[in-house]
Amino acid sequence: MDDPFIACPYNKMHRIPRSRIQRHIVKCPDKRLDYSFCPYNATHIMPAKDIIKHTEECPSKVIVFPEDKPPVVKAAIAVPKPMLQREYLPETDPNHEIWDD
Ligand SMILES: [Zn+2]
Ligand SMILES: [Zn+2]
Repeated sequence: MDDPFIACPYNKMHRIPRSRIQRHIVKCPDKRLDYSFCPYNATHIMPAKDIIKHTEECPSKVIVFPEDKPPVVKAAIAVPKPMLQREYLPETDPNHEIWDD
């Protein structure tokens, strides 16, 4: 069973439909600037100081970054160097420019 509502990470009193949680997170009135979110799952939000520990235990880590889904959330990570499991590959650019012609 999949609970369609999940609690807002900033305020447990906010019950948000799972499909809208990311939008709520952006607009939540209780948003905390010292919170950051998990590189593996943007709905895992916690104090920035806890993120590094969380990334070691994150249940979403096993499905980390399918090939067709670049890790767009990494730009929002405000903590120093979360321990990512793989190095980022160069971006796959369909219009890859060839410099040595
Ligand atoms: Zn909220
Ligand atoms: Zn996580």
